[in-house]
Amino acid sequence: MKKAIYPGSFDPVTYGHLDIIQRAAKAFDELIVSVLDNKTKHPLFSVDERVNILKELTEELGNVRIGSYNGLLVDCCRKEGAHVIIRGLRAVTDFEYELQMAQTNRKLADNSVDTMFLTTDLRYAYLSSSTVKEVASFEGDISEFVPPMVAKLVYNKYNS
Ligand code: ADP
Repeated sequence: MKKAIYPGSFDPVTYGHLDIIQRAAKAFDELIVSVLDNKTKHPLFSVDERVNILKELTEELGNVRIGSYNGLLVDCCRKEGAHVIIRGLRAVTDFEYELQMAQTNRKLADNSVDTMFLTTDLRYAYLSSSTVKEVASFEGDISEFVPPMVAKLVYNKYNS
């Protein structure tokens, strides 16, 4: 069974992430979307909130499972029995960091984990979670960036 892990902050999940999830799910028997529990960041949504949002948005994709991890991604891969990490690439600016992470993870896993990159759908090439948060914080329109249920939750965070 070919399993892959798609890790990320997903704070919040955007149409760009969802496009990568749908495409990766077609290429593997099982895709585990894993929310990074990064204590050094100050996320808008808690890990549980992000996991629940992702669950709701992917419930129609039968081979997608949502989880979370803290610590090393390669340990999460080992635990899940996954040998592939999926990452999305938007522009050259993503590349340098992603290349370094991919090589580090391969080394840490004794060459047993590879990273595969999916290039962004051009419709979402400009899109990032930080842009969504910045626009929403000024009450701008984020309807082209995230699904309606996510937009509602994001605005609620800034209005509470
Ligand atoms: P991280 O904090 O780990 O970068 P993100 O949630 O920002 O987490 O992104 C997770 C992954 O999704 C990364 O590989 C990122 O490059 C990719 N990604 C983010 N936005 C897009 C997009 N609009 N199109 C394609 N890939 C994207």
